[in-house]
Amino acid sequence: MTAPSSPQSVRSPILEASPDASASSVVPDFAVLGGGLCGRLVAWRLAGAGHRVALYERGGPEGGEAAAWVAAAMLAPLAEAAVAELLITELGVESLDTWPRILAELPEPVFFQRNGTLVVWHHADRTEAPLFERRVRANAPRALADAHFTTLQGAQLDAAEPALAGRFARGWLLDGEGQLDNRQALAALAAGLAQRGVQTHWNTTVDDANPPPARVTIDCRGLGAKPALPALRGIRGEVARVHAPGIGLTRPVRLLHPRYPLYIAPKQNDVYVIGATEIEGEDRSPVSVRSALELLSAAFAVHPAFGEARILELNSQCRPTLPDHRPALFWDGDNTLRVNGLYRHGFMIAPAVADEAVRVAEALLAGRMQNADGFEALRAESRWPAMLHDRRAEAAPRAHEPA
Ligand SMILES: Cc1cc2nc3c(=O)[nH]c(=O)nc-3n(C[C@H](O)[C@H](O)[C@H](O)COP(=O)(O)OP(=O)(O)OC[C@H]3O[C@@H](n4cnc5c(N)ncnc54)[C@H](O)[C@@H]3O)c2cc1C
Repeated sequence: MTAPSSPQSVRSPILEASPDASASSVVPDFAVLGGGLCGRLVAWRLAGAGHRVALYERGGPEGGEAAAWVAAAMLAPLAEAAVAELLITELGVESLDTWPRILAELPEPVFFQRNGTLVVWHHADRTEAPLFERRVRANAPRALADAHFTTLQGAQLDAAEPALAGRFARGWLLDGEGQLDNRQALAALAAGLAQRGVQTHWNTTVDDANPPPARVTIDCRGLGAKPALPALRGIRGEVARVHAPGIGLTRPVRLLHPRYPLYIAPKQNDVYVIGATEIEGEDRSPVSVRSALELLSAAFAVHPAFGEARILELNSQCRPTLPDHRPALFWDGDNTLRVNGLYRHGFMIAPAVADEAVRVAEALLAGRMQNADGFEALRAESRWPAMLHDRRAEAAPRAHEPA
């Protein structure tokens, strides 16, 4: 990893000096604020459509400042239906099919698999199992649950995941679910931005009082957008990364647990991401002893060979979350869109959310969204109307309300 250069602030309305003065002096079509997961995807898609795009990220190209850097990057719409509503499941199903097409176009390889999710539980936590199944079946489309929720008993479970043979009496295989390597994805997207000619401003913090010049601004700053979206909050998540040769899990394993769902996601080269806590608050301090003990002992209880694993990293980040726990695209009534609220599902839903952001952003650039009616027309055409918000109209007092 290269050492980041010293952080800068953006001053308006300048564009930084560049050897190609003609390129740098033209106001870009789009300024994307925040180059975490969502910002990189949106900027890459817009540049691919031929637009002139500038991206501003307070961290470096590796993405170390983003929630996306810490994420396990499981793409599990059915497993997540236990804690998410239908909109999230549908965005997740759509995105799971889109990821392979995105990854095929990126200039660097990214580990991606669709080998399903295995859900297991210890005997002592068996009362969690019917609750989980009931929640998934209540929230997910029936056809999805019927087709991909398979009960495994004894030898069936042993055959599906030989590394766990004899360890669990029952489990569920949610086949077709996926995962990818988050850090490879961030690196490949950074390479994709360079390949598509995006003007990247790494180590550059955007100040809300002085936004960079652009015809349309797309704010993808995750929790960093709080000055503009005060309802946003962080939900702290802690994870461990370990190196555990010889265990050989073939897919993410979720362990039902009374306090929060625990998972072990196998990446390449015997690396496992073990996560994750869900703690209200924007505390970015290091992982607590309690959380480390819980995460690591959960892994040890799933397979005792995790006792010999080497801890590569204990890390924490905050998931950018809106009050309804839904992703949202806010239009400010002028030239700014804000894409946020990806919460614990960013990787799972980002392709569909970014596609919708690109559609709305292009309409804004083309002058198709000059007033609330234009926005309503766009919402009427949307596959995901619940995600689209006209902030000016929503803030205006209704006819029956006092002014
Ligand atoms: C522990 C944990 C586990 C997770 N596991 C999963 C999972 O398994 N599956 C899944 O789908 N999702 C998972 N997530 C969620 C996922 O990581 C997030 O939903 C996703 O990263 C949100 O994307 P984003 O682009 O909105 O925000 P981020 O990825 O946080 O990116 C925002 C970017 O904006 C930049 N920024 C902020 N302020 C400024 C500023 N003023 N100027 C310039 N740049 C700025 C930041 O540096 C950052 O790079 C997990 C998250 C956590 C914390």
